Amino acid sequence: MAASIGPPEDGASMGRRRCTARRTDGNPCGNRPLKGQSVCKFHGGAAPQSRAAAVRRQVEAEARQVLAELGVSPVGDPLEALLKLAGQVIAWQEATAALVNQLDSIRYQAGSGEQLRAEIVLYERAMDRAVSVLSAIARLNIDERLVQVTERQADALIGALNAALVAAGVDGERAELARRAAARHLRSVD
Ligand SMILES: [Zn+2]
Repeated sequence: MAASIGPPEDGASMGRRRCTARRTDGNPCGNRPLKGQSVCKFHGGAAPQSRAAAVRRQVEAEARQVLAELGVSPVGDPLEALLKLAGQVIAWQEATAALVNQLDSIRYQAGSGEQLRAEIVLYERAMDRAVSVLSAIARLNIDERLVQVTERQADALIGALNAALVAAGVDGERAELARRAAARHLRSVD
């Protein structure tokens, strides 16, 4: 294990990461942390809010990467920056489309050929940029991934509720009523 001859991307940096928590005897835990987290599943990594935060950090890291590829340096929340960029790119694309539409009226004027070409090039560039930004956002699958986390949190809550009902010795119709009340509450929170 001394020489690092593994794959250059994952091997070197990911392989050495260890859970940052300490065991009850005071020694470092040493387990592998869960993906996108600094702690293992025994030290809080499996909690729904930890998983949700990990997914969000991962999505944000990927958004930052996409922004870097597009030559934009994000200030603050990279997801917000990405969506703002998409809005700007689409607005610019629409503006250049309007410009190209206006060209109809001058198409037959002598000597307007060069200008017409320049504006169409501008429009095509704006289209390309809009497509690349939007497809980059689509590849991140932001909405779906954040929703999946929320569903996992809801499952975890229902599991916790069931355990609480069992521990309190509540079963049958009363347990069912409690479950339904919890489901109603979760929906209203959502
Ligand atoms: Zn640990």
